Amino acid sequence: MSIAGLKFDNSYARELEGFYVPWKGAEVPAPKLVRFNRELAVELGLDADALDSAEGAAILSGHTAPEGATPLAMAYAGHQFGGFSPQLGDGRALLLGEVIDSHDERRDLHLKGSGRTPFSRGGDGKAVLGPVLREYIIGEAMHALGVPTTRALAAVMTGESIMRQAGAEQGAVLARVASSHLRVGTFQFFAARGETDRLRQLADYAIARHYPALAGKPDRYLQLLVQVRDRQAALIAKWMLIGFVHGVMNTDNMTISGETIDYGPCAFLDVYDPKMVFSSIDQNGRYAYGNQPQIAQWNLARLAETLLDLINPDDSDAAVRMASEVINGFPEAYQDAWLEGMRQKLGLECEEDTDMELATDLFSVMEGQNVDFTQLFRSLSHVAAGQAEAARTLFDDPAVFDGWLAAYRERLLREPGTVQERAAAMNRANPVYIPRNHMVEAALEAAAKGDLKPFERLVEVLANPFEARAGLEVYALGAPSGFGAYTTYC
Ligand code: AMP
Ligand code: MG
Ligand code: MG
Repeated sequence: MSIAGLKFDNSYARELEGFYVPWKGAEVPAPKLVRFNRELAVELGLDADALDSAEGAAILSGHTAPEGATPLAMAYAGHQFGGFSPQLGDGRALLLGEVIDSHDERRDLHLKGSGRTPFSRGGDGKAVLGPVLREYIIGEAMHALGVPTTRALAAVMTGESIMRQAGAEQGAVLARVASSHLRVGTFQFFAARGETDRLRQLADYAIARHYPALAGKPDRYLQLLVQVRDRQAALIAKWMLIGFVHGVMNTDNMTISGETIDYGPCAFLDVYDPKMVFSSIDQNGRYAYGNQPQIAQWNLARLAETLLDLINPDDSDAAVRMASEVINGFPEAYQDAWLEGMRQKLGLECEEDTDMELATDLFSVMEGQNVDFTQLFRSLSHVAAGQAEAARTLFDDPAVFDGWLAAYRERLLREPGTVQERAAAMNRANPVYIPRNHMVEAALEAAAKGDLKPFERLVEVLANPFEARAGLEVYALGAPSGFGAYTTYC
């Protein structure tokens, strides 16, 4: 292949033989770029012009492997909705290779939808246009919102027709970039087989790649658990602060790096409701908005179990004690991260003991009031500037909000800085534009009919979510009354 600038340095393939199956993408009839993320390509140090081509489409769909790639399907296990599957793995994805980006960071280049692999079980190994574009939209929006996440490098149509529940769909592949694809489930795969040496090798690899300060330390495996806990606590806090519902927080969808991964049936809250679930397959609400912190802790406990032998091979009781202590520290790590974020959203620079109460009380008064989550937080900068009406009218019964408003105003009296400075700071923490479910659906529907304009426009708007712009009011509106309950499919 003549694609300039695709220089791979494939540490996973090189150092972790036995943790994957070398594999190739499926040939497809007519690979064609639907969207190419130039800005990201440049950040990765890739030749954007060379990749934004028919040859690039062939590579980014998995149809042809570029020189230097060592495509492989990673092995992993995972708890799915609480039940353990000892063998999942990349059933429709490939790790193409790793590149060192312009900040000297190692990034995985990964294809999703590139065909069957030895891990496909009953699946067809394929992805279809709607979910690929949804992952593109939401991943890029999350990045712009300041949430650690995998990113979309390209969406490619394959020219295939793929059968899904609703009928024939257009085949597509997402080329995505991650700081790595190491998951809790990767550790579970080797722990379930009792392969302690491999587990140690994996843990040392994860440490070298994501937590290099721990390398060589005698207590590094326990400290790895601490670090993953803290990154996940910070990540989930960010989700909660913007109303994001991941939808499938299985342990195979939780990274060691602390990035959000695998945007399947995910969605953002319109109206605040802690029990909100969008995914068609989440019948019992396991992964509801309000459950996400607890589920993250549960997943981390599964990671802890895989590390016990490494933490203390001679004394399993001691290992359990130490690991439990780390996992029991999750709620505090999460609350600290959440409160810090809430202070920014509320425009509080000083720290006061009652801030946690003020923050949680806001959520209590929102409950059952049909309050648009994003609009309410955005309107708080007006409240801080003395204008509460826009916020009040978001409540079914505005009087319910008044007690909290009085407490908030009283709290603001003890804050330094001008009203304008505070409002500006708050607007940097409370987005005006999020991927609204009805806008995402409209964009995907149009794309299915060949009109990519709404998708492209939405991606552009969401790239700059904190700055209100004239003419974009429609992107900040809540769901139209006829939109009804929103259900997502993976
Ligand atoms: P996910 O729900 O996307 O996180 O995937 C869970 C597991 O199912 C992973 O092992 C995937 O590789 C596998 N999987 C999902 N969809 C397909 C498909 N269409 N073909 C083969 N494997 C799949
Ligand atoms: Mg997954
Ligand atoms: Mg998925």
